[in-house]
Amino acid sequence: MGKVTGFLEYERLEEGYAPVPQRLKNWKEFVITLNEEQAKVQGARCMDCGTPFCNSGCPVNNIIPDFNDLVFRGDWQNAITVLHQTNNFPEFTGRVCPAPCEAACTLNVNDDAVGIKSIEHAIIDRAWAEGWVQPEVPAVKTGKKVAVVGSGPAGLAAAQQLARAGHAVTVFEKNSRIGGLLRYGIPDFKMEKTHIDRRIAQMQAEGVEFRTGVLVGAMPEGTKITNDAKETVTPAQLQAEFDAVLLTGGSETSRDLPVPGRALDGVHFAMEFLPQQNKVVAGDKLKGQISAAGKHVIVIGGGDTGSDCVGTSNRHGAASVTQFELMPQPPEQEDKPLTWPYWPTKLRTSSSHEEGCERTFAIATKEFVAGTGKDKGRVVGLKTVHIELQGGKLVEIPGTEKEWKADLVLLAMGFVAPAASVLDAFGVDKDNRGNARATTDDDGGYKTNVAKVFAAGDMRRGQSLVVWAIREGRQAARAVDAFLMGCSVLPR
Ligand SMILES: Cc1cc2nc3c(=O)[nH]c(=O)nc-3n(C[C@H](O)[C@H](O)[C@H](O)COP(=O)(O)OP(=O)(O)OC[C@H]3O[C@@H](n4cnc5c(N)ncnc54)[C@H](O)[C@@H]3O)c2cc1C
Ligand code: SF4
Repeated sequence: MGKVTGFLEYERLEEGYAPVPQRLKNWKEFVITLNEEQAKVQGARCMDCGTPFCNSGCPVNNIIPDFNDLVFRGDWQNAITVLHQTNNFPEFTGRVCPAPCEAACTLNVNDDAVGIKSIEHAIIDRAWAEGWVQPEVPAVKTGKKVAVVGSGPAGLAAAQQLARAGHAVTVFEKNSRIGGLLRYGIPDFKMEKTHIDRRIAQMQAEGVEFRTGVLVGAMPEGTKITNDAKETVTPAQLQAEFDAVLLTGGSETSRDLPVPGRALDGVHFAMEFLPQQNKVVAGDKLKGQISAAGKHVIVIGGGDTGSDCVGTSNRHGAASVTQFELMPQPPEQEDKPLTWPYWPTKLRTSSSHEEGCERTFAIATKEFVAGTGKDKGRVVGLKTVHIELQGGKLVEIPGTEKEWKADLVLLAMGFVAPAASVLDAFGVDKDNRGNARATTDDDGGYKTNVAKVFAAGDMRRGQSLVVWAIREGRQAARAVDAFLMGCSVLPR
């Protein structure tokens, strides 16, 4: 364990942030990683409590007490070995994971949790800097071929595991760059894309082939889903050429708000706005970018995606940024005896909120207001009403109607399902939410109803988190390996 009395002696230390005026000037990450000594002290706070709830709170089951102890002892190289045993990409989770492990930490019962995420972040950044992250090329090739459709964290984790098991893996991605929502959803200021690029290089050295700009199956007509494909491959072609196909296409259909005025110029899905900015940072020349510069921006949706729209709008130089959340404002503090070790509902203020944003809760949008004259066809405002929960139902409160000024409205209300056309092209059954139907059973897990076709990540479980996508990719890789070879030594 770390230091026996560490949790009594040391306070939790948060990672630092660059000052707001400085970070708003660019698209770079602004989190200041713990230095070696700080990480050691934070590792010393781990009590080695005996029943590490953090380990089961973490979706990839990171062996947290062990790496805390190794960092405390200064054995960073073994710390990254332990971390990589359960997590292919700790540099992604160390940056963007909401850290359910910390909610589950035993110290969190009556003190501040161990800063697990910041320790993970420090370990992997040091490992890359020291050159400890190297390709792991399989000694023996199996001669089996696997196609992975979609290159988000689920597809990448699966591809890496399958390549290390000796299979010839090809990743098909419709967009022009690899990474899924890591690349085109999460803004650069939360995670710079060089982290994906060096993993791609590692995976190529391990034998993974990446084919970008290739759509497998079909996209729905008139869709606003990002699609840079220049080539289409049919499911039949993949099924003929490969011994197994894993679908990790994410959950890309945005939830819409079909109120009057939805078709006005200036009303966009978050996932039209955010990918464009990530492309611009990557150096792409776009024909016309949705810009928040000088505009009154209203973001509808109080989650992570909405928060990313807030941070992006402020970097564009918006005149004002307001965020609406349909549900009532949650409490500032959770009731720990009631919620621990589970993820609590409480008011969460992101770094983007701190950069400037008015937040309004319990509010429903009734109409987008159309402009006149030179603004004809454009959105110039919003009509709203406040609501409250009555008997489990959201009810409008009379007399709370209000009109807001808005010249850019971003819809960030989550995602309803994967593009049905992709699953339909394969003939894959859907569950009642429209996700690919596949179980996570140990026996035959991640298998769909179609022979040798598997599904994992957001495409199977619905909109979720990077860490869950990595878990599903790893587990699906084991299922595919067992299907191809009769058994698998890949981790469960
Ligand atoms: C704006 C935003 C911010 C987020 N922030 C966070 C965060 O901070 N922390 C966190 O943990 N999670 C966050 N999430 C959620 C997280 O990004 C997702 O849960 C995760 O990326 C899902 O991984 P995936 O591999 O299943 O799918 P995705 O990342 O969605 O990747 C799917 C890929 O498949 C490709 N594809 C789809 N269909 C086809 C096809 N037919 N042919 C070829 N390619 C195809 C897509 O182009 C895409 O690249 C965020 C999501 C969004 C939208
Ligand atoms: S991946 Fe997420 S839940 Fe797991 S240890 Fe890291 S921060 Fe915690």
